[in-house]
Amino acid sequence: MRALVMRGFGDVAVEEVPDPVAGPGEVVIDVACVQPSVTECMLLAGEPVAMHGVLAARLAAGPTRFGGHEFAGVVRSVGGSVGTGAGDVKPGDRVTAVETAACGRCAACRRDRPDACPAPSVLGFSGPGAFAERVVVPAKTVVPVPAGVGASAAAAVQPLAGAIHGHALADVRPGETVLVLGAGVMGVLHVRLARLGGAGTVIVTGRSPAKLDLARRAGADLVLTADADVEAAVREATDGIGADVVFETAGGAPGAGLSGTSTLDLAARCVRRGGRIVVVSVLPDRSPAPLGLLRERAVALLHPRSGAGGYAPGASAFDHALRLVRRGDVDLGALVTHRLQGVEALPEALAITRDKSAHGALGPAQVDLLDWGQDA
Ligand SMILES: [Zn+2]
Repeated sequence: MRALVMRGFGDVAVEEVPDPVAGPGEVVIDVACVQPSVTECMLLAGEPVAMHGVLAARLAAGPTRFGGHEFAGVVRSVGGSVGTGAGDVKPGDRVTAVETAACGRCAACRRDRPDACPAPSVLGFSGPGAFAERVVVPAKTVVPVPAGVGASAAAAVQPLAGAIHGHALADVRPGETVLVLGAGVMGVLHVRLARLGGAGTVIVTGRSPAKLDLARRAGADLVLTADADVEAAVREATDGIGADVVFETAGGAPGAGLSGTSTLDLAARCVRRGGRIVVVSVLPDRSPAPLGLLRERAVALLHPRSGAGGYAPGASAFDHALRLVRRGDVDLGALVTHRLQGVEALPEALAITRDKSAHGALGPAQVDLLDWGQDA
């Protein structure tokens, strides 16, 4: 089959590789649609974010397969010890998959703490992912896609599942003021979840008029351009108190069109005393942080678990995300502006996603490999 092969940072090409085979407890899936994540784009380019060291060590040993955890596809075959009863995954099923699976064998897993597993498998990171015509995943990570949800939306559901985790972590209560810094994919999804969850005033900041328009349609009450005096506007909207919850989604490598670390500073100035900041952005390991200010104001700095599945194989956040899409509560299609055809388009999709603003893209560029017969 054809798949993306990485020979160095910034050096990728689509090449012929051996077909994947389903081992015990595994399934092979024909990829119907796949999209790069921003984190993958940063890692492929050599940015020093999480897992950079692991990837550098692998590249030092030779070419490697990397990335491809946001995808949807059709089950092609199942390996031994995968069940055959009702509810078990079988060939022909339309599916996506949770990207992270705890090892199930270590001391933490044996103590029923899969979130503390030091060696989870992560699709596309610890083994080959879906930047390919076919992908093999553990059967326990497979999530069925309900009828009426197309491959494009199903491939884009992982960031929504991640946003659901972040929303739950912040424990947003009805009536609370939510400030979302950044109107990219994660920003718009957090605006939408805050609205659906009964937040009071929802405020969002962003740079692109098109993205701010999306955020407004997602339910934001107050839309601020990033060059406005955001702190003053938030104070005014909250009678001087500050936001109860801030989702910081704009920080990250400026080379990838992100805002560096200044948004964490802004979050600390806009949150109320005793409020919560959820750091959704993937920041470099040694980013500066306003810890003195946060301590003085008793602000909780929260970090969602890495990956939408966390370290537990449970698919509940995915199931809920797919439910929201099927019901029409969240319109993931509005975030998809670039769809490319065929596996050979993967490098182009990576280039577009790495610098979305330069390409006029709102969300990641998707690659369609297979028409699974319903594109609702
Ligand atoms: Zn484990």
